[in-house]
Amino acid sequence: MIPVTKPFLPKIQEFESYVNSIWERQWLTNNGPLVNELELKLKNYLGIKHLLYVSNGTMALQLAINALELKGEVITTPFSFVATSNSLVWEGCKPVFVDIDGETFNIDPKKIEEAITPQTSAILATHVYGNPCDIDAIQGIAQRYSLKVIYDAAHCFGTKYKNKSVFEYGDISTTSFHATKLFHTIEGGAVFTQCPELLKKMASMRNFGHNGPDEFSELGINGKNCEFHAAMGLCNLKQIDEILDKRRLLSFYYWRALSTLKATYPKLNADLDYNYAYFPVLFDDEQLMLKCMKALENEKIYCRRYFYPALSALPFLNPAFMPVCESVAKRILCLPLYHTLTSSDLDLITRIMLRVQNYDMQNEMLPSSLTVKQNGQLDTAY
Ligand SMILES: *Cc1c(COP(=O)(O)O)cnc(C)c1O
Repeated sequence: MIPVTKPFLPKIQEFESYVNSIWERQWLTNNGPLVNELELKLKNYLGIKHLLYVSNGTMALQLAINALELKGEVITTPFSFVATSNSLVWEGCKPVFVDIDGETFNIDPKKIEEAITPQTSAILATHVYGNPCDIDAIQGIAQRYSLKVIYDAAHCFGTKYKNKSVFEYGDISTTSFHATKLFHTIEGGAVFTQCPELLKKMASMRNFGHNGPDEFSELGINGKNCEFHAAMGLCNLKQIDEILDKRRLLSFYYWRALSTLKATYPKLNADLDYNYAYFPVLFDDEQLMLKCMKALENEKIYCRRYFYPALSALPFLNPAFMPVCESVAKRILCLPLYHTLTSSDLDLITRIMLRVQNYDMQNEMLPSSLTVKQNGQLDTAY
């Protein structure tokens, strides 16, 4: 079986030695020494000054929205994981979707201005698949209209934009360290900001708003993370360069092997050191994508329609019709990508896909026995 992703796991002995130290100290959570060590090592690794380790990537978004005191409408992308726009609604804001760029799959800055109203307080954009948004254009718009900017950088561990960590952009950036992300702490996330007041505020907010044992400075929540998760992060951080290298090699292998596939790939930002977080394939048509997915599933190879459906199609999220996003969401498929995949796995995956396409081309003139129903299910298994 080849899943779309596999969490990286360190040697169990390495994790055990951290667990032993936790037993010795009997300090399990609440800003313990391993949490501190992880925060420090992450700052060193990423070359950044500030970061707060929090319980997950969704909490990171909620803390960011709350700390910036966002209200009213927030302009956001329909092409992201559901947590991006859910957090806005959860925090009492109204997501206003702006369509994406058809080549980068990130929010299209040319369409942002027409969506701004007197109620707009911020822009929440996702750097999709670890490929940064048009940060300069977004920053320019935010300045002109006095809007705050949050970047959901959940896919961006290790990504650099203009030679610095992409986490340093926006009023606040957030990330996720969930087990499915390329660097993970099982569950976890972080917020990043260059502003000392926001940092202080979020540090207090993640710990119930405590300001000393009997004092509360503001409305807080439980956004902390614990020693066990930090231990996993410390183990995984030692391997991160190897993980990133492996993903780069696998991605290049895919690109070469799939050069004749009727599909395209995201246009990567020119000022980028990329982390190869995912391997998305944008098929020219949905039917070919569905047939490839089905053929791979028959061989127990599982891809993921990531992101599908468009968030702007969800009834609880202020729906709107976003033609570019819906067209991309229908045709995109993320192929398996993780550190233990081998070149022969990739040979198998890519051969199956090309065989489906070639079979399709041979049969183009004949009435097709393979029909795809409206709901996306294949009528005839083959
Ligand atoms: C994973 C992810 C999140 C949520 O992170 P969790 O740690 O699972 O809460 C948010 N946004 C995007 C784009 C993600 O991929």
